Amino acid sequence: MSFRYITPMPSPEEIKKQYPLSPEGAKVKAKRDQEVADIITGKDDRFLVIVGPCSADSEAPVLEYIERLSRVAEQVAERVLIVPRIYTNKPRTTGEGYKGIASQPDPLGDPDMVAGLVAMRQMHIRSIEDYGMSAADEMLYPENWGYVEDLLSYVAIGARSVEDQHHRLTVSGFDVASGMKNPTSGDFSVMLNSVYAAQHPHHFVFSGYEVETTGNPLAHTILRGAVSKHGNATQNYHYEDIKRLARMYDEMDIVNPATIIDANHSNSGKQYLQQVRIVHEVMHNRRFSAEIKRLVKGVMIESYLVEGNQKISDHQVYGQSITDACIGWETTEKLLYEIAERAIG
Ligand code: PEP
Ligand code: MN
Repeated sequence: MSFRYITPMPSPEEIKKQYPLSPEGAKVKAKRDQEVADIITGKDDRFLVIVGPCSADSEAPVLEYIERLSRVAEQVAERVLIVPRIYTNKPRTTGEGYKGIASQPDPLGDPDMVAGLVAMRQMHIRSIEDYGMSAADEMLYPENWGYVEDLLSYVAIGARSVEDQHHRLTVSGFDVASGMKNPTSGDFSVMLNSVYAAQHPHHFVFSGYEVETTGNPLAHTILRGAVSKHGNATQNYHYEDIKRLARMYDEMDIVNPATIIDANHSNSGKQYLQQVRIVHEVMHNRRFSAEIKRLVKGVMIESYLVEGNQKISDHQVYGQSITDACIGWETTEKLLYEIAERAIG
């Protein structure tokens, strides 16, 4: 029962120097940060779609996916801002299983945290430099921020992390839109307290430093459904759920009230094809209620080249999820155009 210290990790400065983002890439990222921020604050009335695989397990299929996405993004740019999910760290309910490319650059191989950092950074850099798409990632390990802070345009805090003080305080120092998910229990007040914490300044220890943060006014909520005490999935994307969230926002000292509907996870009960119906319901509710339209700034969709998911094996289907099941490319492309038709007006 002890730690075995294997290797000291390179510092964020070292990694960034070795794997730098080009100045042109930095401009793309800054512009997209501002666009996402403007949607969250309501300056831009376009709809935000955060879409991509549950886990970005391998560079080639993920970049092929992003290349396809970038072509649709151009077509719908007047109404929709598309941000790819490049999720490099996966929370595991029991701690077992694949933990993302940042831990296991080869899903079949042993953990390699240094190679993982490089793989994570390179994938984000290529998405920006080759396809103009800065991405969203989950900040499962807050200390990772230094390694990707120059690359991400959107950060999510997962359902299992949102109650944790270190995550909340860390988000208060992020300069990009950051979504705090409802916890798996479904309690909205936990999620809103997390947003409150993230929007305010803090003084704490981060990455071996005593630090101060300014507070992040772009912190907002993500509804991902919940699990009941009997273990059943319960949804929270319906009209009544969003109205209830709006009332709870009214009572909190929080700026930029905003929510994103995660169509998969407990909202779909992992019935991944239901994501299409759920997104349509969200678009319908936005047209029906001005309040819902103001509050619901976007959706999150799990999607990859090939629909469904597979077990990790040495004969992987290219572009199919090895974590949560996803909708496939054709379904996704169609859905993105449907979202664009219904997003504004
Ligand atoms: C995810 O986005 O893939 C995820 C693990 O989400 P959650 O934290 O909501 O379970
Ligand atoms: Mn998932």
